[in-house]
Amino acid sequence: MSAQAPEDDLQVWVDQDLCTGDGLCVQYAPEVFEFDIDGLAYVKDPGGELLQSPGARTAVPGRLVLEVIDSAKECPGDCIHVVRGSDGVEVAGPEAA
Ligand code: SF4
Repeated sequence: MSAQAPEDDLQVWVDQDLCTGDGLCVQYAPEVFEFDIDGLAYVKDPGGELLQSPGARTAVPGRLVLEVIDSAKECPGDCIHVVRGSDGVEVAGPEAA
């Protein structure tokens, strides 16, 4: 097998306090984001289970890195955070450099 690509290490979480519920992320990456009954977006674990605790992180599947990063860049609530798992540095989202 090939070496793990750096983007395999990315994780993503949503700050539901700022989510507008517009659904852009759910459209871009439905395997990663989903609405709960409260109308806010949450991330899902690799098995597709909604992670409902605030700030819960999930791994970004390698094939969806671009979709998840685009979601963070275009999220109207500025509330999608994509971070490197190794050091927690935000690579896309409101706190990215
Ligand atoms: S794109 Fe941002 S504001 Fe819109 S539903 Fe997703 S997390 Fe919420």
